[in-house]
Amino acid sequence: MDNKFPGKDITQEDLNTKFPLASSNNKKKIIKIDSNISFGNNKTIPIIAGPNGVENKDLIFKCCEVLEKNKIKLLRGNIYKPLTFPYRSKKYFDIGDEGIKILENVKKNFDLKIVIEVMEHEKLELIKDVVDIIQIGARNMQNFPLISRAAEENKPMLIKRHFGCSIRDLLGSAEYAMLKNNQNIILCERGVSAPHTHKSSSRFLLDIQAIPAIKENSCLPIMADPSHASFWHKWVEPLALGSLAAGAEGLMIEFHPDPRNAAVDPLQAINFEEFTLLVNKLRNLAEIFEKKIV
Ligand code: PEP
Ligand code: MN
Repeated sequence: MDNKFPGKDITQEDLNTKFPLASSNNKKKIIKIDSNISFGNNKTIPIIAGPNGVENKDLIFKCCEVLEKNKIKLLRGNIYKPLTFPYRSKKYFDIGDEGIKILENVKKNFDLKIVIEVMEHEKLELIKDVVDIIQIGARNMQNFPLISRAAEENKPMLIKRHFGCSIRDLLGSAEYAMLKNNQNIILCERGVSAPHTHKSSSRFLLDIQAIPAIKENSCLPIMADPSHASFWHKWVEPLALGSLAAGAEGLMIEFHPDPRNAAVDPLQAINFEEFTLLVNKLRNLAEIFEKKIV
């Protein structure tokens, strides 16, 4: 197929020359986080879960206990938040470097792996002993110097698709990381903007179709984040189940002990009980596909 509209569709030439490392021409990558947790092995579906941000030690420990009870091994340990507006109130904050101590404590007390979003390469050195997966958020998906520098840490990376970017763009971002000899890249669909989004009925549109499309065009595992896509706690369950059914190879779920009083994004987190129910439903659904939630 000729690439008559460059930037629109993925062509054979793109696979060969634009992102040869991330393309489906290569053997499918399995990203191993530890002996039981792998993304892309066609058998296990890891869940990354936790609050929007690390608010304080007490809150994070409560969340870790819920993860352990549900046999989920990956914590959202976000201490640097890409908040859309620069102002902070007492409640609306990001803990920053102070959160590293809390995460060190998590490592001592729980058998959990930690996912942290970075926005500045200077933070990579500070978090290197606590981070197991480096997250590049949607807003930094095309911050190529940051991606290249983060890839040099040689840790698994999670790159979220920007809400205005194509799958082709996302694979270009992954290619930057892979070119630094880091093959451990996980992709994440988290909802896109469309003319009818950013209304109360849909902040973003979870592009479930991107899941099989990425599997067709890339060797990298693709996961989904229904929490950031919907921005609405009541829709997290159907979108999580839908993503799993569409072939997502991992899920990111936001939960909080008191969601409506969360410091950031209070509408999208589900509570502990809802999280436990959702994990159980996901386990049942995964069984149909002969997969296991981990
Ligand atoms: C997040 O995961 O905390 C986040 C900010 O997500 P996104 O980059 O997808 O908006
Ligand atoms: Mn958020």
